[in-house]
Formats: sequence, C-alpha cells, structure tokens
Amino acid sequence: MAQAEAATAGQATAKKWVYRFEEGLADMRDLLGGKGAGCAQMTRAGLPVPPGFTITTEACNAYYEAGKQFPPGMWDQTLEALRDLERKTGKGFGDRNNPLLVSVRSGARISMPGMMDTVLNLGLNHDTVQGVIALTGNERFAYDAYRRFIQMFGRIVQDIPAERFDEVFEDAKHRHGAKQDTDLDAAALREVVAAFKDVVQRETGKPFPTDPIEQLRLAIAAVFESWMGKRAVDYRNFYKIPHDLGTAVNVQTMVFGNMGDDSGTGVAFTRDPNTGKNELYGEFLVNAQGEDVVAGIRTPMPISKMAEELPQAYSEFQQIAERLEATYHDMQDMEFTVERGKLYMLQTRAGKRSAPAAVKIAVDMVHEGLITREDALLRVEPDQVQQLLLPRFLPQAVWQARERDGFVTKGLNASPGAAVGKAVFDADRAQAMGQNGERVILVRPETSPDDVHGLIAAQGVLTARGGMTSHAAVVARGMGKPAVVGADDVRIDLRGRSFTVNGRTVNEGDWLSLDGSTGEVFAGQLATIEPNLAEEHELAELLSWADQVRRLGIWANADYPRDAERAREFGAEGIGLCRTEHMFMEEERLPLVQQMILAAPGAARAKAALGIDERRRELQARRMRQTEEHAPPDMVAADLAAEEAALANLEAKLAADSAWQQYKAALDQLLPIQRGDFKGLLKEMAGRPVIIRLLDPPLHEFLPKYDDLLVEVTELRVRGNDPARLAEAEKMLAAVNALREANPMLGLRGVRLGLLYPEINEMQVRAILEAAVELKREGVDAHPEIMIPLIGNTEELRRVETVLRAVAQAVQGEAGTQVDYKFGTMIEIPRAAFIADQIAEMAEFFSFGTNDLTQMIFGFSRDDAEGKFLGRYIEEKILAVNPFETLDRAGVGELICIAVERGRRTRPDLEIGICGEHGGDPASIAFCHAAGLNYVSCSPFRVPVARLAAAQAALQSKQAAGAKGEADR
Ligand code: PEP
Ligand code: MG
Repeated sequence: MAQAEAATAGQATAKKWVYRFEEGLADMRDLLGGKGAGCAQMTRAGLPVPPGFTITTEACNAYYEAGKQFPPGMWDQTLEALRDLERKTGKGFGDRNNPLLVSVRSGARISMPGMMDTVLNLGLNHDTVQGVIALTGNERFAYDAYRRFIQMFGRIVQDIPAERFDEVFEDAKHRHGAKQDTDLDAAALREVVAAFKDVVQRETGKPFPTDPIEQLRLAIAAVFESWMGKRAVDYRNFYKIPHDLGTAVNVQTMVFGNMGDDSGTGVAFTRDPNTGKNELYGEFLVNAQGEDVVAGIRTPMPISKMAEELPQAYSEFQQIAERLEATYHDMQDMEFTVERGKLYMLQTRAGKRSAPAAVKIAVDMVHEGLITREDALLRVEPDQVQQLLLPRFLPQAVWQARERDGFVTKGLNASPGAAVGKAVFDADRAQAMGQNGERVILVRPETSPDDVHGLIAAQGVLTARGGMTSHAAVVARGMGKPAVVGADDVRIDLRGRSFTVNGRTVNEGDWLSLDGSTGEVFAGQLATIEPNLAEEHELAELLSWADQVRRLGIWANADYPRDAERAREFGAEGIGLCRTEHMFMEEERLPLVQQMILAAPGAARAKAALGIDERRRELQARRMRQTEEHAPPDMVAADLAAEEAALANLEAKLAADSAWQQYKAALDQLLPIQRGDFKGLLKEMAGRPVIIRLLDPPLHEFLPKYDDLLVEVTELRVRGNDPARLAEAEKMLAAVNALREANPMLGLRGVRLGLLYPEINEMQVRAILEAAVELKREGVDAHPEIMIPLIGNTEELRRVETVLRAVAQAVQGEAGTQVDYKFGTMIEIPRAAFIADQIAEMAEFFSFGTNDLTQMIFGFSRDDAEGKFLGRYIEEKILAVNPFETLDRAGVGELICIAVERGRRTRPDLEIGICGEHGGDPASIAFCHAAGLNYVSCSPFRVPVARLAAAQAALQSKQAAGAKGEADR
C-alpha cells in the first residue's frame, strides 16, 4: 500500500507541468493554451519575445481535481523555471538592485478575450520599486507601475471591488488638479501607493503581500480560479466551449511600454478584422501599458501613426507580422510593446474577425496561395455566412432619419450589421428585457467582461469610450452583433439612465438604430433590407467552391414563388417542402377553405351512408383481379359495367345532398386557385424538383378560435340586437366545437384528413398535375413530387396512393400527355421509420419531418415545450441543446438511420431528404451527410449557410477517413 502510494507520488512529481517558452511547440495548444503555444512558436522562430514559461492547462484541471491545490511538483517546477528566468534576464526576483518583474496571464486553448485574469508588474514591493527607480532613473514610472500592480492584484487576486481603488485614485487626481492619469507626478503616485495599501489592509484585514514568491503563488491560483469565474463560464456557455479545457498560466518577464516617449504598446491585426482588407490594422499608445489599450481607458491612435512616432520599431513589426501570417497561414492578432525603442512581441493568435472579413480573408488567402480552397471552406463558420447576409438599413430610411434630425452620433464602426432596439444602460436590465422578447441596445461608457450577459441579450452595443480592439468591439464582433464604440461625444448618466449628445437626450426605452458598418447611430426604428448574395462576390466565390465539394443537395422550404425565387438566388437546387396550408391561410381564400371544412363532415356522412367509397374500392380491386377470375370474361365485364352504373346512380344521389354540394362547390373554386399557386412555384423552379405536401394541419387552425366565438355568442345573446349574426356565430361555434380536439397535434391531421376527406387530396393532386401539364405545354420543365404527411402505417399510404394515382392517371389521360411526377411520404412518426421497408414499396421518396419526429421521440409538444420548460432544461443542462434546433443524434438520428437503411433495402434509389427546421442547422447538416441523405431542405435564407455546412461535412468526413486510413496502415 505504502509502496503503491509512493509510486503514485513518484509519478506525480515526475509529471511535467511547466514548459519554458523555448521548450513548447506550436502544436501543444491543448496543453499550453493559445497564448503559451504562440509564445513558444515565436520564441523558436527567433522573434523578440520576453522570456517566460507556461504552466499547463492540465495543471489547472489537476488544481480543481485536488480541491483547489497545486498538483504535486507544479510549484517546484515553477520555482525552477523562475530561477531560469532570472539567469536569462540577469535579474533577480525580489532583488532590490536589479529586480525581475513578471506578468501572470491566463491563456486557454480557445481564445476568450478578456474573460479571464491577468496580473502585471508582479514582483514589486517597497524594496524592488527602489531598484526600478535606480535602473530607469524614472521615479514616476516606478511608482506608476507599483500602483497599477497593487490595483490589479487587489482586484483580481484579492477580490477587492475596483471602485475602492478608483475612488482613491480619482480623489488623488482631484487633489492634485490632474486631468489625466499621466498628470500625476512621482510624489502623488507614491501617496497613491500608500493609500492603495491601506485599501488592501482595510478590505482584507491583512497587509499587502510583499514577498514576490508569495505574490506569484497567489496570482497563479487566481488565474486558475478565473477559469471558473462567472464571466468565463457565461462566455463558454454562449459559445458552447467545454468547461473542462482549463486555462494555462503564462509567467513572462515584464517589458514596459510606459518608460517614456520612446516606448509604447499596441495591438494589431495583420489584416483589417472588419473588412478583411490586407493591411496592418490596429492601435498604438505611446508611453502606455497594455491594459490601457484593451480597457479603452485612453483612446489610442491608429497603428499607421506608429510609423511616424517609432519608425524603426514599426518597420520591424511590419516584417514580423508578415512572417507570422506566412507561418500560421492565417490572420494574426498580435500584442506588442516597445520598451525604449526595442520591439517585443507579447502574443500572437488567430485574430477574431467579422463575418465579411472571415470570408474575404479566406478567399484572398486562396488567391495569394497561402491556403487551399479546402482550408478556406473549413475556416469560415457557417454562422458567419448567415451574418454576412445580415440586414442593413434601407438607404432611404437613413436619409429620412437625417432629414428629420434623427442622427444621434457617430462612433467607430466596430462590428457590422444593423441593429434596432430600445436603449438600456446596464447589462442586467438588457438581459431581463431581452428575455422578455424585447429588442434592446446596450449603451455603456465602455464594456467589461462583466457585461457579457447583457451583450448576449442585446441586438447591438454602443459605447462612449474605447477603440476597435476594446472589449465591446472584440466581443460583439465575435458574436456577430453590430457595435458602435468610442462615440466620445456621448455623455452617459448611468444613474439617470440616459445619455446626452449634441443637446439631445436619449432615455432608457427610447428606440435607437445602430449601424455597425458605418458607426452611425439614429433615433427611432429604421427600416432594414435583406442583403443580396450576388453582390457579395467573395462569398459567392467561396460558396461556388463549396458546391464543388459537397455531396448533399441543398433544397429549400418555400410556399410561394417569391420565396422560391429567393431560394434559387441563394443557390437552392429544389423545393423540399411546400406547405400547402399556408396558401389556404391567405385572406381571400379563407372563406372558401372554411366552407370546405364546415361542409366536409356532413358530406362525408352522406357519402358513407350511400356506401360509395367501399363499393368503389371493391370495384377497383375486382378490376385488378379481372384476369385471375375464373368466370368467363364476358360475364365479368357485364358485372363490372352493372356495378359501374349502380355507382353512377349513387353518385347522382350524393350530388343532390346539400352538404356535399357546399363541399364540392368550395373544392371546385379552390382548384383553379391552387393550380395557379403550383404553377407559379413549379415555373420558378423549372427543371428542378418541387415537393408539394398535401394538406397537413388540423382543420380547426383555419377556423375562428373557440374561445373568441364563445365570447361573441354570449355578447350577442345578451345584447339581443343582431339575431342574424347570432345565428351565424352559433353555427360556427357548433362547428368549431365539433372539430375541437384535446391534442390536435396528434389528432385529425396529415394523411388522416386525406383518408376521411379524400376529395381535398384529389383536388390538390389534380391542381398539381394540371399545373404541370399547362407548364409542359408552355415548354416549362416541371417536376412535382407529391408528398403525404404523417404516415404511420402502410395501409394509410396504400389507400391514398390508390386515390392519387387514379387522379394523376385521369389528368394525364385528359391532357394526352405524361407528367414526370413522384409520389412519396414524410417520415415524421416513429412507427413510419420502423416500417420504412414496407413504406418504400410505395413511396418513391422520403422526407424526414424532424419537427414532428422530434416532438414524438421526446414526447415534447412542439407548441408548448419551448415556451414552457425547454429553456429551463437547457439552462439547467438537463439537455445540452434545444432538440428542435439541433437534431438529436441519439434518438431522432438513430431512427433516421434505421429508416434510411430499411427504405433503401427495398428501393436502393430511394430519394431521401430532410425538411424539418434542422435542415438549416450546421451540426444537423453534418449528421445528414453522414446518414447518407440526398439533400437537406431549409428556409431560403439559410440556403447559403447550408451550402457551406454541407461542404464542411464532406471535407471533415474525408479528413476523418484519411486519418483512419493512416491509423490502419
Ligand atoms: C416537420 O414535421 O418536420 C415538418 C417539416 O412539417 P411541419 O413542421 O409542417 O409539421
Ligand atoms: Mg410535420
């Protein structure tokens, strides 16, 4: 036992927790985090990186596993690396003559800008500050560094509210008549240091820790802790980043950008992160430290100005930027500092970028030979394609807003897109209002990571301070939300929940329209327009590459010719679902539809009483059997003719029934209307398949609401002044009552309607076929596919098929021409998936209705779940994602696989697609690719997204197969 323990302990100490920058490799991102791996790679490439080391993400996870204790061996390795750092720099940690100061920074595998903590200037105390003064000859600088350190350490490591320090600092500025931080002299800053130490003593009950080793230990623990801090957790939840990655900790020699006018600091991108333009883009501050830029406290100058201020460092930086792009084959986001004219690189990582920039950079880099087309396709997120097609303001709306004096202000155009919402001045309120379904614009002096939940809830963000790389800008861009930052003429009164600008006051709740592409802000709600794919040249090019690699077809769900047109512009190759009921809902048709519905039960009763359907079915069956019958053919023919005559007689009787007459009259009027509808759609999609689904929803959806009618009838009865209307309303109430169902979603809908009232199906099929015939005559190539919803057993399908084939036959016979049509069904009831082999004997195509399928697999009511409990389920992680948005692979997906396999067993060329909402969701599209579907069908607006997602699915499965092949070899 003791031996085993010793062995474990031995192993634990042997584990490597700490890597010096020169030991790390670029592909150790998982272990060293993005920042650590970046520093390692830059160090190896010989770039000027201040020496340092990285404590691994594994150490962070081990810290949590051990109940917030450093894992065995980690601290010793840290001290060893620190001694190494002392050797390299020739400085001593805590040495009052030549002090080494370090930064302690977080750095996860995935960049989470500003979400975790950093401590700078660590190692300072009353002794070492003297050393800094002696070395730099700059007392002001030394005390400024010291006060920053206490402030940061206090806030981050000791959890002291930032205001405690801010109050003291503002007070000092006031007393010394200082406008800016830089106006405070050394003596004033020394006072501030003393006052800050008092703050720490007051707040923690202990003196500020002066031992640098102790400072380091606490700071490392604090960075580990920040991994599980609220804002980091919120951020990861939003981006669906796993919580078990852990953060690395980077300990690095400090270099100082605030050592005078030959020093400075900046952040820059190798290309413009908003537009993607290939030029250095960023910001620079002379005589400043890193956090001044990021926090947006001082408004920095554009990077191009650095060429004038520090020409030598600038040109070196330019060369390094180019080298980094060539190394990483991607746009880089770099942090650097110039200390007395010497350039140091602090960080490089793939830069966050807006959607337009992502597409442009990917396409440009292919043209520049930096990456392949496949790389480009994998590099753009499908959601970014969606963002590129974000709405913009209607130009006229902007002119009009200007004319009516609606222009409010102009800031920096930090993240593109148009946002309209009510002004809100704090994140909690933004979140509350957002959750209530209200659109809000978050207005802040500047944002910090604590505002992320408000940003998530807002349509867009407006800040008064900060630059293009300020927190608000970076985070909004990442989320694809419009942002206008640094609108520095805006005066915000947080208490009064308002802001003033140019003599105008905007209060909480006032509407704002914010254009993140121009930086302009307007009062009121401006009209927006949908973008045009044809004008997005780079996107069009990228998507054309996507089309070459994807295997899945991309179809669209469209009910009207105008939707089909939009879908086609976006690249749809067919219509996967036309929900015909939407046509029924249109105002001028509704009375006819209501007439049809109200008369249908009576008509069906009259027909049943005469036994027509049954006899007709029998007659048809006999016709089929004709050749097998043993009776002489003449006799059989005579018998059949007699039965035909008898049926004609019964039909004549039926024709005299008044309910039947009303029912038929409505259907007869609907026929040409539907024919027109289908003609429009088929024409728009000429040469491509168009799946038209026969009537699906429960009929009461077309009638007035029961409760409304009840109120109306009651009122009419009480008033007693309109007997005619009362009679009408009572009749409608009775009809609606008769149609009422406890659970309409599982009631009389789908194929069941067509079986009870086959004339509705017949009318629709006739309209489809006649439309196709007319188009054929006009020289238009129409390919209708008739789809039956909600099949659960084969006999249902067999019966509708008989009716429909007969109608199709009749129409083609009348026209003397053939139509290229298909007959198929939706798979949206679990049972249908299980009997897919039998269904495929009749159906020529399947389309997965994953909305209903999800509802039935989970037993979640589609109409109620999202509003009632699904939100909580997701919040509390009972479910990871909303299964109505992202296809549930374990349940729904499994069933789809079963249906695909069984269906194709019967009919190998079975055409299979998906038309539920999942058809436009990238993760679900990847599943559809893997499951071997032929196409996905989604809303027209998502077609471009689906094209890219399908290409990525194809590329990723190719890569996975390649990797497997390698492994097998
Ligand atoms: C489905 O159920 O997935 C489907 C496409 O049909 P609807 O949403 O119209 O029920
Ligand atoms: Mg459905």
